Amino acid sequence: MKIKLIGTSHGLPEKDRFCSCSVITVNGSHYVIDAGVSLFSALLHNDYVCEDVKGIFITHMHADHSSGLVEFVDLMSWAKKLVRPEIFVPTVAGKLAIQMLANAMDSGSEIEMKVYSEGTVFEDENIKVTAFRTAHGASTFGFLVEAEGKKVYFTGDMKGDISDMPEFVYDDETNLIICESAHNCLPKLAEKFNVMKTDRIVINHIAPKHSIAEFEEAKPLINKPFDLAFDGMEINL
Ligand SMILES: [Zn+2]
Repeated sequence: MKIKLIGTSHGLPEKDRFCSCSVITVNGSHYVIDAGVSLFSALLHNDYVCEDVKGIFITHMHADHSSGLVEFVDLMSWAKKLVRPEIFVPTVAGKLAIQMLANAMDSGSEIEMKVYSEGTVFEDENIKVTAFRTAHGASTFGFLVEAEGKKVYFTGDMKGDISDMPEFVYDDETNLIICESAHNCLPKLAEKFNVMKTDRIVINHIAPKHSIAEFEEAKPLINKPFDLAFDGMEINL
């Protein structure tokens, strides 16, 4: 699978970073985690064919993860009727809010969104997506993505001590963990990172005021590849 990190910023967009959005590509199909960017525009600007997007998964409804869905749902309803990914949001309120906004723009009424909870969210011939609850808010999740024999965990937003990281990251092999850094202090988490059974950790959801300095401080303490995400970063697994 290929992963491209389109938006790697924290809650605020930065000059060189959009808010959260990652795209996973398997066998020519695309799967999007979070839409903190105007999603249709961002996919086009990154050379994705929007008709090949098969799933969109929102970790939680904070605007830096979900606001770009409005543009997407609006365009699906009138200009792009061949674009029909399955869209998964974590709350009924989120689903209704996006549908109401799209309806207020005179569109969007026929677009379906599914409300997911913990457990298997989606499975097709390419990937399986499983949701794990985090303690960042009432309905906040991380996603385990399994494809082509590889496993990647996208943490979503978490508590500062990452005590809400699911147990499997310590017990089971993963190929990659894409871990947020907006709500924690990375050097304080070094011991936890070192006992995770993963090949590589990429630090994402960057808050420039603290994440980058903390990343540099933590890096020598970590016993596995440990990288800082940037917009446009591509990872092949
Ligand atoms: Zn966030």
